[in-house]
Order: sequence, then structure tokens, then C-alpha cells
Amino acid sequence: MTCCRICNFKLKKIIDFGKIALVGNFSKKKNQRKYKISLNYCQSCKHVQISEHLKPDLLFKNYLWETGVSKSNLYLLNDLIKRLKKSGISKNSKILEIASNDGSFIKILKKQFKSFVLGIDPAQNLAKKANSEKVFTINKFFNFNLSKKIQKKFRKFDFIFARNVVAHLNNPNEIFKGVENLLSEDGIFILEVPHLLNIIKQNQYDNIFHEHIGFHSLKSINDLCKRNKLQVLDVDLINSQGGSIRCFISKSKIENKISKKVDNILNIEKRSKLFSNKDLEKFEIKIKKHIKDFKAMIKKLKKNKKKISIYGASGKGQAFMQFNKIDNKIIDYVFDKSKLKQGKLTPGTNIKILNPKLLTRQKVDYLLILSWNIKEEIIKQETNFRKNGGKFIIPFPRPKVLN
Ligand SMILES: [Zn+2]
Repeated sequence: MTCCRICNFKLKKIIDFGKIALVGNFSKKKNQRKYKISLNYCQSCKHVQISEHLKPDLLFKNYLWETGVSKSNLYLLNDLIKRLKKSGISKNSKILEIASNDGSFIKILKKQFKSFVLGIDPAQNLAKKANSEKVFTINKFFNFNLSKKIQKKFRKFDFIFARNVVAHLNNPNEIFKGVENLLSEDGIFILEVPHLLNIIKQNQYDNIFHEHIGFHSLKSINDLCKRNKLQVLDVDLINSQGGSIRCFISKSKIENKISKKVDNILNIEKRSKLFSNKDLEKFEIKIKKHIKDFKAMIKKLKKNKKKISIYGASGKGQAFMQFNKIDNKIIDYVFDKSKLKQGKLTPGTNIKILNPKLLTRQKVDYLLILSWNIKEEIIKQETNFRKNGGKFIIPFPRPKVLN
């Protein structure tokens, strides 16, 4: 069994899910290989994490999720840019993004501020795309060793970003150590990560899959900072990935004013019992009840001969489908805008993915939205489906049909 990825202490199991296929493995082939997955917490620092350790190449070399695709994402980026202006970003700033995906974000910064930007991403397909659009991207996994090479060539950076990547790391201390090495004396490290608070409080167990190795709180980020000569200066709660924290981090030797929000959120986490063994272990019962309720709801619809399809072939959708043992007796199709996924099968559940343009009332009575974090966007986009009598199902916090 793996030890805690932050402090190396022993882990204790919260729930064992058995085996699932990798949620990013969209392919035309059925019967994909499945891997064990279980949720655990550290008995010392309480960091919540899966215990399985898969090779990163298996998970991220050919990643199909492109930042450019979702509108809600672009909105979040604009919000971040406003904040960066206040922090003094300019044409003299040097910017590094870890896990820069297809380069969409730093491309905007480059255009708007004329700053020097550098991306790092392990996915060959995405790094290639970014480079072809003149956003210089190193096609590697970021770690301390790579940070030393980058430092030799590019020196220090004023802004370093790591958005939605810390949760994906087998050794999160490596990224913090690497950032500490590359950050200029008064530089800012901006990190975004889904907040454990929402995952536990809103029962978001569809967030649990092999790519999501750690489930972070502000406390766990604070613990990582302290171990690596960094400090959290400020934090925002943002509406990304079902609720995330955006942390502003500096070197710890710099005397900076620390925002009151940091203590506030640390206290909220403590009061919400995110670090209580008893409460963490209760998560299993909540998950099992949700699965039971969802099945009962679908069974009733199928008894009335309703045709149900899914909208959103996101990673979390694939985890949800597999935990709920969804198959083609229940669901006819999965609709998704990503051209990279269309025509392929959902991993582990083998349902065909189609272009949402093919979505009609003849084919679908109920549309289960599994990319529920962008449900407003999807509902707005599918107005015609609704006008013609189609209905939406939202799975969280409780499965329900929208009226
Ligand atoms: Zn620990």
C-alpha cells in the first residue's frame, strides 16, 4: 500500500470501488483494461487520496481534454486576468504554466500583456498543438529536475501557474520544490485545485478516478507550502470543477501581508470536519446511498419506456457511469462537443459518443448531464431539446429531474 503523498505516513481506507477503466481512454475498442481504485486518508495529516499508483504515461501522454473547448472555462480565465492586472502583470513579466494543456491560457496572456510565456505539458498531442500556434511548450512532466534545467536556460519567473494539476500528482512535493526553485524573489505562484470541502459536502464521488490522485483542502496546500519554503498569501473560492480554491503563494522568506481569507477558509474546513477520521469514513455510506437512489430513479424511467442519453463525456462522467454500472440497456448514447471523442466508446461502459448536433427528441426523452459543473451552459445550448418536451436529469447533490 502507498503511503501519504504529502507526509509519508500510513493511509486508511474510506471506500473501495473495485476496478474501473481509465476515464480518459476513449477508443473504438470494447473491453478496456480495468484498474483498482480506492479512496483513503492519511492518519497523520488527513490528506485524502487514492492509494493506487499508475504510471503517469498511462494517464496523461495522450490527453483528450482541451482547455479551449468550454465557455465557462474562458469566463474563469477572464476573472483571473483581472486579478493578475492588480498583481502588476506587465510586458516585463516572465510567465510559466505547468500543465499548460493546449496553451490557450498563456496564449491570452502573451497577446494581452506581451509577456514572455512558457508552457509545460506531458501530452504530446496538446504540446504539439500549442507549439504550432507559437506558444512555446516543453513536452515533459514537470518535476524538480526539469525545474533545474529550465532555470539554467530561462532563469526565474514572476508568475507561475498550476491550474488543475496538483490533484494529478503522485508526488506533489516535487512540484512545490520545483516552483520554489523557479519563482523570482517577489514572484507569485497561482494554483487552482478542486476543493475537498465540496467533494465531501456535495458528495461528488464522480471526482474519484485514477487521474485524480489527491483531493486537496487549503490545509493540504498549506502543508505542502510549509514543507517547501513557500506560503499561502491569499485564497479565492472559484466556481470551477464543482468548486475550487485558487491560492496565491509566495516564497516564505518574503514578508508579505497574509489575507484574512486564509485563516477563514482554514477554519471553515476544520469546522466542516474535513480532518475528522469518523466523518471522513462516513463518506462511504453517503456514496453508496447516492448510487442506490440514482439506480431507483433510472429504473422507474426505464419501466415507463423512456429513452435516456447522457450529455458530457468528461472524466468525471466516465467515473460516474462506471461506479453506477451504467450500460447500453439504460443509456442509448453519450453526446459531447469534443471532436476527439465523437465516434468512440465510453471507457469501461462501451456507449457510443455522438456530436450533440445529432441530439433530437426522437432519440432522447431524458438527458442526464454528467458534466454538471457546466450544466447552465449545456441547458442553454440545448434549448430546442427542452422546447420539444425533452427533460434534463442532474445527478448532484441528489439525482433529480429538472422542471
Ligand atoms: Zn499525510
